[in-house]
Amino acid sequence: ASPTTATVGAPDVYPTSHEQVSSPGNTQNFLDNQFVNSKATSWIDLFDPATNNLVTRVPQSTDIELNAAVVSAQKAFPAWKAMSLLAKQQIMFKFVALIRQHWDRLAASITLEQGKTFADAKGDVLRGLQVAETACGITTQLTGEVLEVTKDMETRNYREPLGVVAAICPFNFPAMIPLWSIPIATITGNTLILKPSERDPGAAMILAELAREAGYPDGVINIVHGSAKTVDFIIDEPVIKAISFVGSNKAGEYIFTRGSAKGKRVQANLGAKNHAAVLPDCNKNQALNSIAGAAFGAAGQRCMALSALVMVGETKDWLPEVAERAKKLNVNGGFEEGADLGPLISPQSRGRIESIITSAEEEGATILLDGRGYKPEKYPNGNWIGPTVIANVKPHMRCYKEEIFGPVLVCLNVETMDDAINLINANEYGNGVAIFTRSGSSAGRFQKEIEAGQVGVNVPIPVPLPMFSFTGNKKSVAGGGANTFYGKSGINFYTQTKTVTSLWKAEDAVAAKANVEMPTHS
Ligand code: NAD
Repeated sequence: ASPTTATVGAPDVYPTSHEQVSSPGNTQNFLDNQFVNSKATSWIDLFDPATNNLVTRVPQSTDIELNAAVVSAQKAFPAWKAMSLLAKQQIMFKFVALIRQHWDRLAASITLEQGKTFADAKGDVLRGLQVAETACGITTQLTGEVLEVTKDMETRNYREPLGVVAAICPFNFPAMIPLWSIPIATITGNTLILKPSERDPGAAMILAELAREAGYPDGVINIVHGSAKTVDFIIDEPVIKAISFVGSNKAGEYIFTRGSAKGKRVQANLGAKNHAAVLPDCNKNQALNSIAGAAFGAAGQRCMALSALVMVGETKDWLPEVAERAKKLNVNGGFEEGADLGPLISPQSRGRIESIITSAEEEGATILLDGRGYKPEKYPNGNWIGPTVIANVKPHMRCYKEEIFGPVLVCLNVETMDDAINLINANEYGNGVAIFTRSGSSAGRFQKEIEAGQVGVNVPIPVPLPMFSFTGNKKSVAGGGANTFYGKSGINFYTQTKTVTSLWKAEDAVAAKANVEMPTHS
């Protein structure tokens, strides 16, 4: 089969429309710096979500291929660990430059396979690129500590890589989330096995190609494919010391529990239900635009999508205006000029979301804007749902309890800010939250009392940039959020501290008898 997504490509050669790929080929494995055809017997068809045309077939990598990735990463580790930080930094500089050069190509792969608009896909790449750019500063981020702990004796610590590590990625950010791992895992000296989402591995394959071109040695980055079988392999393989997972609670809680039981470090970012509390004193226009953008952008398929709106006091009367703004958004193929949001990832996802909207109707909520059945003229076969606004939602309803992960905004009314805080804190998820207000004291109290890891004050999607860390809370993160992605915490996750205590004192060498007491160094 001729490879499609995984061949070496020029930065300006990429799809610019949803036209049927002329000869859909197979996605390859990336082993030991080579793109290798898979001998898989089981393949996953990948369809353009705007048309449901076949784009490529993704292998369930075979046991031999999975083992080859481990052998390659293990073999590469000693030399990669030993390579000077400055040499690694040079590779990262080149990697960063190449990502920028291939930015449009990466984005086009995302629009084709994942469905988001081209402009939004460029943002997906950029947010990952910024992690790689920040990793270039590793020379000042990896320094240890040293202290003369007592006369002639000093203790110093070093941060050392773990060895072979793995990353398991979700479908919704095909470039950004692989780039939460690739730069930090490797610049700290680990070798990496990455499993992209089987629903859109194209961007990760381009990143592999760029990494090779940037000078990453053979085996430092390997890419394998598949679904649960590959994940189980990663969990069970003793050579793999740590797992970075981003995705749903169902998969993530399983991976965290089983991976931890095998003695591995696991960082796992999971699902969400992100609320916005709207206070009557806010800048109404800014709030309504922010809410519509953050609820429906990327068709709501962001873990930080603003999916639950809490209208405080009289702001409940603004809901028709929220629906009006949502209605103005252009739902279309992601390559189309002026498209605001694209399709959902799969027909199954569309069916699940439609059934949630129907359940809301049956449970007594009001559908203010109904996106069911919407189809852009040019793309009748895509997985479409238009922006949907559901009012009069109560916390017991299915549309409130479940993460919808689609262009659906559920709206609840409360009387006071305290009611809003209580409602939001009672939700089991705690990824992001936003408050819209002009009052510093209301915002101050809200940010202190709210139990969500990432708070926006008049900022609808408060995802921290890479000098900070992605700090979900409650059920949105496994293991109590001890191992968050990127930032200082990301470096800690991928490194182990070694503490060395040294004594260089000649008189000890001439003592006649051993001292058996606990050394106190005092
Ligand atoms: P998913 O859990 O279905 O898939 C994620 C990865 O897990 C994929 O690589 C997949 O192959 C694997 N996987 C799926 N089911 C599995 C199973 N039963 N056993 C083992 N592995 C399995 O998630 P998704 O649909 O790709 O992504 C959407 C989810 O990810 C949403 O819940 C979203 O909130 C979450 N997400 C969270 C963050 C965050 O930072 N908190 C970021 C992005 C996405």
